[in-house]
Amino acid sequence: MVFSSFVYFQIDRIMRTSSEMAIIGLSKQVKTLYGLPQLREFHMLRDTDSLKAGPRIKPENLLIILRDTSLNITTSNTNDPELIEHSSKEIDRLFESEKDDIFSQVSIDGEPYRIYTAYFFSRNGEWGILQICQSIEIEKIVLSKLLGILLLLGFTSIAILALISWMLAKKSLEPIKESWEQQKRFIADASHELRTPLTVMKANLEIPLQEKNGTISDNYVWIKNAYDETDNMSRIVNTLLELTQIDSGQKIIEKRRINISELAEKSTSSIIPLSNEKKIKIVQDFEEELFIMGDAQKLKQLMIILLDNALKYTKEGYIDISLKKNNSSILLQVSDTGIGISQEDKKHIFERFYRADKTRSRVQGSLGLGLSIAKWIVDEHNGKLEVESEVNKGSVFRVIFPIN
Ligand code: ADP
Repeated sequence: MVFSSFVYFQIDRIMRTSSEMAIIGLSKQVKTLYGLPQLREFHMLRDTDSLKAGPRIKPENLLIILRDTSLNITTSNTNDPELIEHSSKEIDRLFESEKDDIFSQVSIDGEPYRIYTAYFFSRNGEWGILQICQSIEIEKIVLSKLLGILLLLGFTSIAILALISWMLAKKSLEPIKESWEQQKRFIADASHELRTPLTVMKANLEIPLQEKNGTISDNYVWIKNAYDETDNMSRIVNTLLELTQIDSGQKIIEKRRINISELAEKSTSSIIPLSNEKKIKIVQDFEEELFIMGDAQKLKQLMIILLDNALKYTKEGYIDISLKKNNSSILLQVSDTGIGISQEDKKHIFERFYRADKTRSRVQGSLGLGLSIAKWIVDEHNGKLEVESEVNKGSVFRVIFPIN
């Protein structure tokens, strides 16, 4: 496109310059042939005699106006009032410009003209004004045709380039895509294969943990540690499996009309034992009987992810969960008085495997997948998930569900 514009403007400039040069050449001929004293003899150029004024004068295409010192027209091959009016305006412009001659382009009756206006000195020192007016319609037609061709060429080359780039990009991305697919397949297979042995291990470890005749096993602490770690691994494997199902489109949201107020109560009560253990108070404020179209299981999972995070990242203080109805939406809000999230981390927390504080998160047994799953659930419900947070003050996670 840049090349086309360059070619267009160069050709426009060349055509204009050559036409101006021709007009200046012609003006010289007229000036030499007709000094002011002879002006009166320079009659209508439309006459055959007028062709003597120069070989290049074509009366149909060129209009010549000569004026004397008082600016009265002495000779002219046109009496078009509009052209005469334009010619007077050009003389004013010549006076203002303080130049010896000027060029301008005007439109007369929708037809483009180039007007040349110059001083014209006679042999006896008197001056007058010479004006040559040339129709540049052909020039404009040629230029607009050229512009059309250049635009067509430009767009065609853009289309060809885009196609080639797309093909090259596709080809170079293929190995990356293939290895990404392989990685996803591996995670899916591995998590699937690990699930069964982990379930068996958990079930076996549960047996020695149970009290037998009122006594607990001597190795209780070690077995409990092994059980907790197995439980942790099970959760990780299940989350990975869930992600692979989301990616492959197997995870389907089943929407029904559900009472989200009841769901919020149930989800909150499921984490109360953990909050009691951590001595963190949970404040609940749910508007009753709020309904939305959604997947109850997934929405419960979303609430638990947000509450679980709030608990994980809060040492003291309280967690507040509320559910309210606005005009056209339902607002679920989970706030805490925990460690907060920095501005930089806030940009990434919804990305997979992103953990703001890697060392702390590892201790907490987290993978950095909870919020990406939460985001997926909110998106599937056409909602919006927002976060506001201040380091060492706490965080507020807000979910806005449209009411359908
Ligand atoms: P994780 O399993 O690590 O909690 P998430 O995807 O749920 O993974 O969260 C991503 C990161 O966002 C966390 O590692 C943590 O750094 C930060 N985060 C999430 N929730 C909170 C919160 N309530 N307070 C402080 N940081 C949080």
